[in-house]
Parts: sequence; structure tokens; C-alpha cells
Amino acid sequence: MTYILVAGNPAVTELVAAAAKLGSPVTAVVVGSQAVVDAVNAPGVDAITWLGDPGAAGAEAYASQVAQLVAAAPGVVFGGRHPGERVLLGAAAAALDAPVITSASEIATDGGSTVVTHGVYGGIAVETLAFSGPVAFLLEGGAPLAGGGSAAVQQVAGAPAGVTVTGLEPPATKAANIAGAARVVGVGRGLKSADDLPLVQGLADAFQAELACSRPVAEGLEWLPKDRYVGISGTQIAPDVYLMVGISGQIQHMGGCKGAKVIVAVNSDKDAPVASEADYVLTGDLYALVPALTAALQGAS
Ligand SMILES: Cc1cc2nc3c(=O)[nH]c(=O)nc-3n(C[C@H](O)[C@H](O)[C@H](O)COP(=O)(O)OP(=O)(O)OC[C@H]3O[C@@H](n4cnc5c(N)ncnc54)[C@H](O)[C@@H]3O)c2cc1C
Repeated sequence: MTYILVAGNPAVTELVAAAAKLGSPVTAVVVGSQAVVDAVNAPGVDAITWLGDPGAAGAEAYASQVAQLVAAAPGVVFGGRHPGERVLLGAAAAALDAPVITSASEIATDGGSTVVTHGVYGGIAVETLAFSGPVAFLLEGGAPLAGGGSAAVQQVAGAPAGVTVTGLEPPATKAANIAGAARVVGVGRGLKSADDLPLVQGLADAFQAELACSRPVAEGLEWLPKDRYVGISGTQIAPDVYLMVGISGQIQHMGGCKGAKVIVAVNSDKDAPVASEADYVLTGDLYALVPALTAALQGAS
């Protein structure tokens, strides 16, 4: 059995595609409204188990019910990287004592095992793992499903655990979208001070790019929020152009921008690791080069 978890967001085409490759019947387990159930009832979904509309309860309130379903008919469980699905998948996996894989590159079945390959050590090696029991996968999600299927919907009544959403506030700062941005300007420890961030933000604005950073800039220095750092432990980006300013290009950072079509680096050290990774390298002081680039881009627009 293969399961897809949907907790309010039917943007799960990637999950359906991954589930189809395993060759087992696909059951969507839905925590959400009737409209979500209707959207998820799409080609590729064989059955739907509807746990109900959570109302003020958090999606994770249904974790033990999801775990019971999977324990009764064990299999692979897919969830999307949406807030509800992430927390429900994690809590259900904990209840099942199942591993959660967040970076699988290939997923297949071999006899009774689920075989997974994923990059390790910043992408310099590929590890293959075989799991004999239930295993949970967090994938990006994909585009929204839009109904048109003929899956049988089974409504399972059950009391959610005592988790209630007591407040919902928009974040104080705009959420970053560096993963989906066509242009990204990243800043690293080559910047001397947080006071100098407007310099790089000005370049990003002139380039119509999202501002990103290396991990130390977000964790440790905390000049930018954590959702803006690129890398194996941060966000994976795949822009048309990634302009790296004062970032050395360590393997853990470059593992997060392998999908970039063109990489341009501004670095004072001609021998920095990034020099052998970037398509174009501007060797020099960022404090001279960034204003010049910004002015050139402003002049070009
Ligand atoms: C398990 C693990 C996971 C990690 N995951 C991540 C991750 O996901 N993402 C990540 O980014 N890092 C990650 N790191 C950290 C990573 O190893 C590097 O330490 C980090 O990427 C370095 O950040 P940086 O390039 O900004 O700083 P530095 O390495 O200090 O580089 C600064 C660069 O700026 C240049 N520079 C200095 N002054 C100037 C100037 N005036 N003009 C132009 N250039 C200048 C220098 O030549 C240098 O190349 C991880 C580390 C570990 C151990």
C-alpha cells in the first residue's frame, strides 16, 4: 500500500507521481474540507480515506489515526513540504517508529523492501538504503490536483487528539521564496557587517532577485532569517542566475545550488573554492564591485 498525506493543501502532483512508480494501490489520507477531498479525487489516486475537517484542531491532531491506518496495512507514506503535511507526516512517523526521509533522489520497491537513494556528504556520494517496514518521505508537493478521478471516498470518524490552533499571525517579515526565484543574490561572510546588507539588497533589487545567504549569515550571525540560507542543510535553489557575493563556495553551500543554470561569483580571493564552481568569477573587493554592478544594472533597466 502507498499513502499520500494531504492536510488541507491539494498541491500534491509530485506525490502522486512518486507513488505511481511504486506500483501499489495509492490511498490519499485527507485531513481537510470536502473541497480538498474533491480536488484530491484525481487520476492516480485509487482510494481516499477522509479523516475529517480539522477545524480549529491542528493537522497533527490526526497523527495517531494516520499511524493506525498505516500500521493496519503497512507501506510507504508520502507528504508534501507544506506546513500541515510536514507536521502530520513527522508526528505519524514518530507514532509508527518509522524513519522520515527528506532528501530522496530515487524511491523504488524491491521485493518487500523500499529502496531509497539520496546524496550524502554534500552531494559527493550517493547512499542506497533498503527499508523493510513503513517509511515516510517528505517531497516538495507539486501542482494542485483538480479532481476528475473516481476514487472511493471512505470517511473515518475519529476524535482528533487535543491539539487546537489558538492563534494565527502573519510573520513579521515577508517569507522568502528563494527556492522558486528565477534570480538569486547570495551574500556570505565576506560582508563585514549587518549594516552593509542594504548594499547587497540594493544589488538584488536592481537585479530583480531574491536575497539569499550562506549559513553563517543566517545561523550564528543571524543577519538574515534562516529561510534565506542556501545549502545542504538550508534551501535548495535552482535559479536562472545565482550571483554569489563574498561566499567562499564550500561544498555544503554549493550542494544547495546545483540546479542554478549560471553561477556568478564576486570574491576577493581568486583561489576561493567558488572559483572552480562558478561560470563567471569577478575577482575583487565586493565593496567596490557590488556598487558598480548595481549601477550597471540600474542603467540597463
Ligand atoms: C554539517 C554542515 C552543514 C553545513 N551546511 C551549510 C549549508 O547548508 N549552507 C552553507 O552556506 N553552509 C553550510 N555549512 C557551513 C559551510 O561549511 C561554510 O562554513 C559556509 O558556507 C561558509 O560561509 P561563507 O562562504 O559565507 O563564509 P566564509 O567561508 O568565511 O567565506 C567568506 C568569503 O568571502 C570572501 N571575502 C572576504 N572579504 C571579501 C570582500 N571584501 N570582497 C569579496 N569577497 C570577500 C572570502 O574570500 C571568502 O571566500 C555547513 C557546515 C557543516 C559542517
